[in-house]
Amino acid sequence: MLRDGFGRVATDLRLSLTDLCSLRCTYCMPAEGLDWLAPAQRLTDDEFVALAAVFVSLGVRTIRLTGGEPLVYPRVPAIVRRLAALDPRPELSLTTNGVALARHAEQLARAGLDRVNVSLDTLDRARFAELTRRDRLPAVLDGIDAAAAAGLHPVKLNAVLVRGENLHEAPALLDRALRHGHRLRFIEHMPLDAGHTWDREQMVTAEEILELLSADYAVVPRAGRGPAPAEEFDVLDGPGRAQWATPTGRVGIIASVTRPFCRDCDRLRLTADGQLRTCLFARDETDLRGPLRAGASAAELAELIVGAVAGKQAGHGIGGAGFVQPTRSMSAIGG
Ligand code: SAM
Repeated sequence: MLRDGFGRVATDLRLSLTDLCSLRCTYCMPAEGLDWLAPAQRLTDDEFVALAAVFVSLGVRTIRLTGGEPLVYPRVPAIVRRLAALDPRPELSLTTNGVALARHAEQLARAGLDRVNVSLDTLDRARFAELTRRDRLPAVLDGIDAAAAAGLHPVKLNAVLVRGENLHEAPALLDRALRHGHRLRFIEHMPLDAGHTWDREQMVTAEEILELLSADYAVVPRAGRGPAPAEEFDVLDGPGRAQWATPTGRVGIIASVTRPFCRDCDRLRLTADGQLRTCLFARDETDLRGPLRAGASAAELAELIVGAVAGKQAGHGIGGAGFVQPTRSMSAIGG
């Protein structure tokens, strides 16, 4: 078991397959991209699987593939197949921008992927092109349809709202999700952008999102959240209800900044270059790639992981006087 000093048990691993991304979301990274990892720094398929096996042996039960953009990684179905063969078999999901999902959904489902989260911040093609600096909205919408058709249920949609850009689209995003039977979650913007432009005064808060949705929808909190990052709400009524995929719907809010859920955090992160992070906002990392390449045994790697988890920080501390944004940005860590 991976228990930390505050009694939390880590059972969820976010595994970043690559730091590369096919979009350039303005709230995430600059137009020219980042200083990408060198090929030799990146883990190989065998290294990803070997490290995942150690995490599973220590009690990790869910693995989410992420990035960067995980579907930029050339052999995702093969990795999924190998992760699905671990014992006990972890639940496998993938967080993607959806651009290449239509091409891969069926194959990923056959390989053993259980679920998918797709980022969708806007339904307006021109705004999508502006926000992501790429004109790929039609491909993303096709990808979402393909994921649903491949049985990757429930398809979850993630939206970051940016004031002056897409904030007013929150009800329309919810309307589309309810009609298609997808689960929409709004994510508060976090101080993890590569440009260090995050501004607490400017960020759209959970409270503001709820207020906006409540103007059109009957939204009621659900009980039993557990360690999930999203606070979930039932949507009981609203415009277009007759066309909803189910009689009532759901919406989630991941309010990492204004309603932190660190006390229940069960997550660990492995970067594409094999660094273990016990918190998105950690300032330190534990190198697993070096020891792995130097021939460390599974037991030795397990010892390193257990030690890192034992020292997991209590919380992210955003808003505290001593808070310093981590050097790596969201996409370089694995969101
Ligand atoms: N490329 C994949 C995707 O788009 O889902 C996976 C990586 S991406 C970093 C994961 C999620 O993080 C996306 O939903 C993205 O919108 C979100 N994100 C990026 N930067 C963020 C920030 N500073 N605060 C909150 N969410 C952020």
